[in-house]
Amino acid sequence: MQTFQHYIDGKFVDPRGGEWFETINPFTAKPWAKIARGNADDVDMAVKAAHRVSSQGPWASSTASERGALLHRIGDLVAREAERLATIEVRDNGKLMAEMLAQLRYIPNWYYYYGGLADKVQGAVMPLDKRGYLNYTRYEPLGVVAVITPWNSPLMLTTWKLAPALAAGNSVVIKPSEFTSASVLEFVKLIEEAGAPAGLVNVVTGFGNEVGKPLVEHPDVAKVAFTGSDATGKRIYAAAAQTMKHVTMELGGKSPNIIFADADMEEAVNGAISGIFAATGQTCLAGSRLLVEDSVHDAFLDRLIEKVRTARMGDPANMDTQVGPITTQPQYAKVLNYIDIAKKEGATLVIGGEPGRRPECGDGWFVEPTIFKDVENRMRIAQEEVFGPVLSVIRFKDEKDAVRIANETIYGLAAGVWTRDIGRAIRMTEALKAGTVWVNTYRATSFMSPFGGYRQSGIGRENGAEMIKEYLQMKSVWMNFDAPSANPFVQR
Ligand code: NAD
Repeated sequence: MQTFQHYIDGKFVDPRGGEWFETINPFTAKPWAKIARGNADDVDMAVKAAHRVSSQGPWASSTASERGALLHRIGDLVAREAERLATIEVRDNGKLMAEMLAQLRYIPNWYYYYGGLADKVQGAVMPLDKRGYLNYTRYEPLGVVAVITPWNSPLMLTTWKLAPALAAGNSVVIKPSEFTSASVLEFVKLIEEAGAPAGLVNVVTGFGNEVGKPLVEHPDVAKVAFTGSDATGKRIYAAAAQTMKHVTMELGGKSPNIIFADADMEEAVNGAISGIFAATGQTCLAGSRLLVEDSVHDAFLDRLIEKVRTARMGDPANMDTQVGPITTQPQYAKVLNYIDIAKKEGATLVIGGEPGRRPECGDGWFVEPTIFKDVENRMRIAQEEVFGPVLSVIRFKDEKDAVRIANETIYGLAAGVWTRDIGRAIRMTEALKAGTVWVNTYRATSFMSPFGGYRQSGIGRENGAEMIKEYLQMKSVWMNFDAPSANPFVQR
């Protein structure tokens, strides 16, 4: 078993409380590493180190170009180590090697992009209604940023926050998911190698209420950048309000993937599959509600089932595997429970619905790719996030009906539309309440394009040039060069 300590102030250190916990490989269902179990003392040490770095010394006085150069070096090192980091991710969270390799090879772009952006964020000289003053704005870092991440894409979701946070001049304390702590502890070695000062990026591992909570409550943390469930997001938002911290929240979804009768059927079938079964359904943006127009419903479903039946399950480290295990045991139990709920609610199971017991699944936490038809949008299986390979198929009559069903949810993360009618495509992109709408594609994301949720899917956005401002605050500077002095007792 490997051991992973906290990373605080440039050193790997044991947890102050002396406690450890195990991290489990979801394919073998066996522990493979020991992880430091943090507490409020560890958090305090990490925040103090980060606070020192962001308030004094070379990082606090660094130029944006110097920060940009550091980010470029980090990008280069991640590119060099992509394969090794992908292997750790696969072992710890069970995602497919094919996906994680591509993800790790794509991650350097965030460091290059935000590194390049660092010295292009400018304040402005403001035109004024008052004579005799010079007024200008400048952007300043917030200070210490807490990065709290879930288990489904540990390094990717960390990167979405870390790259803009560092480019903007902040320091960072990362609290990874207790289910997938290992990869980020390997990753910080690269940040050190790139030349980051000790204490710029710290990692405290452990559980939500033991590490996450004191981190969010810490008075020296200025911002919380969170990805995770909506239940935890609401708790963090309320806690952050007590000290008026900035927040960005990327939460859950129940995204509609909408198939119109005029769509390219083969493309749409592939889009429906990747929408829900990629990453074994464990993505916030999963197209978990498949809305299919009445006239093509049966034929579409037949073709979909035929393809899903060929899905290759098994060892995620094997490049040919298409469906891997569920990352955690509690999540596995939750997915199977939702399958029961759907049956009891009267949805019709058309494929799957069982634990994956194929020989190639070993002892892993597998669930067969599962599709329910005759789902009504009011059912729990259509309203609640399953976060697993379970697709709910819902019929619709026409465009208006599709929009109504699609928008009847508390979420608003993403939506897909499959049609060859350009007018309809544009009308749908306007009518759907979602932070991302894809037309004739699903699941594409980029460091250049904003991502985030409407309604209860989140607050703020990640990615894209504007989002560096989520990690900055603006100061307005007034200089009197020729304004006449007035009655000092009267504000003007
Ligand atoms: P989770 O909310 O249980 O945990 C996320 C993180 O929050 C973990 O690190 C956890 O330890 C920490 N945490 C828990 N309680 C806390 C507290 N009181 N204070 C501070 N931190 C606390 O989520 P999860 O189960 O790990 O991840 C799955 C969820 O993430 C899904 O709901 C999914 O939709 C969502 N997700 C969203 C996006 C997005 O971009 N919108 C992306 C991926 C995943």
